[in-house]
Amino acid sequence: MRLYHEHPYESEFSTQVQRAWSEGGKHFAVLEQTLFYPTAGGQSNDTGTLNDIPVLDVREDSKAKGDIVHVLENPLSEGMKVVGKLDWNRRYRHMQRHTAEHTLAQAFWRAAGWETLSVNMSSSVCTIDFSGEPDEATIKQGEALANWAVYANTPIHTYWIDDSEVEKESLRRAPKVSGQIRVVEIEDWDKVACGGTHLARTGEAGPIKVIKYERYKGGTRIYFMAGWEALETFVAEHAILSRLGEKFSSAPLEVEKPIGNMQGEWYKVRGENAALKDELAERIMRELLAEFPHHTIHAQVSDNVLDAVGKRLAEWPGVLALLVAPGQDKARYVLLKHSSRPEDLQALWKEILEPLGAKGGGALVKLGVLPTGTGGKALEAFRAKLAI
Ligand SMILES: [Zn+2]
Repeated sequence: MRLYHEHPYESEFSTQVQRAWSEGGKHFAVLEQTLFYPTAGGQSNDTGTLNDIPVLDVREDSKAKGDIVHVLENPLSEGMKVVGKLDWNRRYRHMQRHTAEHTLAQAFWRAAGWETLSVNMSSSVCTIDFSGEPDEATIKQGEALANWAVYANTPIHTYWIDDSEVEKESLRRAPKVSGQIRVVEIEDWDKVACGGTHLARTGEAGPIKVIKYERYKGGTRIYFMAGWEALETFVAEHAILSRLGEKFSSAPLEVEKPIGNMQGEWYKVRGENAALKDELAERIMRELLAEFPHHTIHAQVSDNVLDAVGKRLAEWPGVLALLVAPGQDKARYVLLKHSSRPEDLQALWKEILEPLGAKGGGALVKLGVLPTGTGGKALEAFRAKLAI
């Protein structure tokens, strides 16, 4: 017997184990009655304990004709009396998500005639897929309507009907099941077939916040949060905005402007820095070409222009060069040649740099690192080898 249908606010119950078995290192039990909700209809399963044994998962077992199977950390035995306790914090959040889902589904139906195609409430950010085209104004209207329904604090009832009565009930969606059908009614707001757990009044589901929407399979997917989870997100986001506000001497809701200003400034400085680096690299290249008239160059340069100078020299006809930039824990180097030089760069690298512990590679430009203190040795070996 599914106690959660009639007693959604109860979190403790006593019962007896009807069947119990173990398989593949896991333990299972079916009870005479249960408050544990199995994963179904977009709502996740409950967790908790049975005689203090953790309930890891709860499923509907189709093979056993709809029995509710509790997956346990340790075994129980058949006929045993057990006390079940739900993780109420988890379940209440599921009830908030689920009630918000019904409220939103009706709100978007009223706002724009959007039909609900599917729902997922397995995490704090839930989704509803609607039939309508994405549209900012509809999203705002749907969200506002849903929160009006929350503030109206409308009672929610559930009752059972026979499928012959479905037509006169005018449900929002056609039921997916037949036979006895459970109806969840938010008074004067929404009526739909559903087997999940819901709140007693809409007020408990608020606030409801649509946090994102996107085009999905020709319709719209909305992402929403409800109840405690929406509030917790607001608290976390507000804390971030407040800290940013303090950093930028601005009110939390006005931080966009100073951040935008800083970003603009940063782009400007980055552009200036790149231009200065270019100018410096060009100057260093000219100096090196003048210092080494035969264009076989070995020199130490600063780390922030190593790549730029190397790139320029590699494009200069007749150049063969080794540049080293000493750093704190290692040196960086660039060994390069213009395609007009006959030397075998790989052979040079193997002879001069590899014995010093160099790492790196490349064809016409070899970039890499050298262990600390070996930069000078590398330059000296290069000079000696090429006898300049
Ligand atoms: Zn429901």
